[in-house]
Amino acid sequence: MADFNWKDYSLETQAIRAGHNRTHEDEHSMPIFATSSYVFKSAEEAALRFTGKQAGNIYSRFTNPTVDAFQKRLALMEKGERCLAFSSGMAAIMAVGMGLLKSGDHVVSSRSVFGNTVLLFQNYFAKFGVEADFVKLTEPSEWEAAIKPNTRFLFLETPSNPLIEIADIQLIADIAHKHGCLLVVDNVFCTPVLQKPLELGADIIVHSATKYIDGQGRCVGGAVIASDEIIENNIYPYLRTGGATMSPFNAWVFLSGLETLAVRMKAHCDSAFELAKWLELQPAIAKMHYPGLKSHAQHKLAKQQQSHYGGVVSFELKGGKEAAWKLIDATKMLSITANLGDVKSTITHPSTTTHGRLPPEVRAEVGIKDSLVRISVGLENGDDIKKDLLNGL
Ligand SMILES: *Cc1c(COP(=O)(O)O)cnc(C)c1O
Repeated sequence: MADFNWKDYSLETQAIRAGHNRTHEDEHSMPIFATSSYVFKSAEEAALRFTGKQAGNIYSRFTNPTVDAFQKRLALMEKGERCLAFSSGMAAIMAVGMGLLKSGDHVVSSRSVFGNTVLLFQNYFAKFGVEADFVKLTEPSEWEAAIKPNTRFLFLETPSNPLIEIADIQLIADIAHKHGCLLVVDNVFCTPVLQKPLELGADIIVHSATKYIDGQGRCVGGAVIASDEIIENNIYPYLRTGGATMSPFNAWVFLSGLETLAVRMKAHCDSAFELAKWLELQPAIAKMHYPGLKSHAQHKLAKQQQSHYGGVVSFELKGGKEAAWKLIDATKMLSITANLGDVKSTITHPSTTTHGRLPPEVRAEVGIKDSLVRISVGLENGDDIKKDLLNGL
C-alpha cells in the first residue's frame, strides 16, 4: 500500500483511525506515552536530534507520540497541513499572537469573540506594542476599513458567542489577502464536522479542545492548525520555547473525543434545531438567536457555509434579567455553568457571567442584553430538556 494516504478518506474515518502509528506491541487502541524524555542510542544520535539533523523525539514539551497522534488526526479533519496542540484554547490563541506578531504590529478582531481573547489583545499584547481594533463580525466593510499598513492578521469566531451571528469566512479571507494580512478563525463552535475554514480561505484555525472535541467536559486543551510554513516558522518555535504543551493524558482523552465527534455533532445540532423551533413558539420568548431559524439574519449564509446549524441556542425573554434568572433557577436538570459542547445541557446568563466583565456600554454595543439566556444543547432526551425549561417559562 505504497500510496496509502489518510487524506483520501472521509472525516468520519480519519477521526477514528488516523494518527496512530501502531508500536511493536501491536496495540489496537492509542497508548498514553507517559514519558517526559526519550533515550538516544549514542552521543552522536543525541547531537543529531538536538540540531534537528535527525527526526525523532527529544523531550515531551515539544513532541510526544500521543500528542502527535491527536495533532495528525485533527490536521486531517480540518484539511490543514499541520496541527500543534496546546495546554488550552487560550494558550493556542496566545501562541498565534506570540508567533506572528512583533511590536508595532496591528490586529483587527471581531468584537464578538471569546471574552479572554479580547483581554489577551487589549491587556497583554498591547503591553508589548501591538495595537488591536475591534469591528462588527457581520460587517465586511468595517473589517476592510479597520485594516492598516501594519495589520498582520484578522481574527474572528463564527458563529459568535452568545448571539450566534455568522460571518462570511470566504469574504473576509479575501479582504485579508487583498491587504496582505492573514485570517485566523476560531472554529470551536462548529468543529471541522460543521465547517472547514481553511477550505474557505482562512490561513489559521484555533481550537479549544475543551468544548466539543472532548465533548464530556473533562479536560482543557487547544490547538492551532495552519500551513507547514506557518507552523514550522512561527508556531512550533514558540511552543518549544514557551512551553504551553498539551499533556499526553489530555491528548488521549481528546483522541477518543474526536472518534465520536461526527455523530455527537449531528445529535447536538438536531436536538438544538428542534429545541429552537419549539422555543420560538413559547409566549415567554421575545427573540430567538439560532441560525437554523428563518428569522435569523444570516440564515442563508449559515446554510451555505455550515453543514448544520450548531448545538448552541440563545434567546431573549420578555421581562429582562429577572425573567432570565427565574428561568435558569427553575430548571432542575440543566447544569448552570458557562461550559459548552458537553453531552450534558448547560444553561448560562451571559451578561452576568461570561460577559459580565465587559463594561455595560460594550455589552450594549455587542447586543448582549440582560434578558439573554444561552443553552448548549446536550444529548439528553429532547423532551426532557423542554420539560425542564417549562418549569420556568
Ligand atoms: C472556551 C473557548 C476558548 C478558550 O478555550 P480554553 O480551552 O477555555 O482556554 C476560545 N474560544 C472559544 C470560542 C471558546 O468557547
